[in-house]
Amino acid sequence: MKIAFLGLGAIGRPMAARLAPLHQLTVWNRTAERAAAFASEHGARQASSPRDAAAGAEVVITCLPTSADVLSLLDGPDGLLAGLERGTLFLDCTSGDAATTRHIAERLAPLGVDFADAPVSGGTNGAAAGTLTVMVGGDPAVFERAMPVLSAFGKRIVHMGSLGTGDSMKAVNNMLLGVNILALGEGLTALVKAGVSPRVAVETLNASSGRSFVSESLIPDRVLTGAWPNTFRLALLEKDAGICLQMLRELGLPAPLLERAGALLHEARGILGEGADYLEPIWLAESRSGAEIRG
Ligand code: NDP
Repeated sequence: MKIAFLGLGAIGRPMAARLAPLHQLTVWNRTAERAAAFASEHGARQASSPRDAAAGAEVVITCLPTSADVLSLLDGPDGLLAGLERGTLFLDCTSGDAATTRHIAERLAPLGVDFADAPVSGGTNGAAAGTLTVMVGGDPAVFERAMPVLSAFGKRIVHMGSLGTGDSMKAVNNMLLGVNILALGEGLTALVKAGVSPRVAVETLNASSGRSFVSESLIPDRVLTGAWPNTFRLALLEKDAGICLQMLRELGLPAPLLERAGALLHEARGILGEGADYLEPIWLAESRSGAEIRG
């Protein structure tokens, strides 16, 4: 199949790399050198613009920071709308927001393009291994069409419901991830201060009822080891929390715990900066308490 992939960031790159051996792949990236390096490594064609990427593609996939970034690629002489052809399948793997996703769909409708939101979870390692969870919002027929394409990098591909429900699912998931990260930062530093060794604390937690993906996987692999790899920007996690909070407000639901977590992630983003990794709020908790989670 002729597939165009736009957005070769931390997660987009390994997702596109899974598509390259299976399909005739074209890539586009805002910073062209990254697309050139990817194209030569994976035998893909480098497009000169979003329009050039979309022209002739049966499937177009975007993976950018926000839905607004995807929207910004539509217009202009070199925009996607100028290149997309009737019948093309357009999958947006951005962790986006439902309102902008629906707006993008409205812009695409006159062209006869099938559109779905398809955000992913499972991290950069999951993308490289082809084990991502993909949360798809859109028409059931579009979901069926998308399945074989998404299976290149997705293991569990779930139809969440109508357009935008993939975004909603992803936003709540990542808000809960953020809650866990913040809670582990506070809880583990407290245990270290109370005299428990960090490794024993984590191992005991993981054999008890307070465990989570963060305690079972991320803390042992990245914090206890002191590796602190940079795979997912805190700025993007905070963006997801903001989408979740906006959704709760629109639904008229009170969520004092999640509001607080969103505020703490916002504050952490301000302190740690746009390039910080999503686990660095734990480092912040360490430096505030003077207790190191290492061992
Ligand atoms: P990165 O910040 O690593 O990369 C962002 C990509 O988008 C880059 O290719 C960048 O281009 C491009 N980009 C940014 N702004 C624009 C714009 N205005 N117009 C065109 N291109 C733009 O992000 P990730 O790859 O980590 O994340 C992408 C999406 O996937 C986000 O929505 C994120 O929340 C989600 N996600 C990320 C995961 C991860 O583990 N990293 C896991 C699951 C979901 P350039 O190279 O020029 O900067």
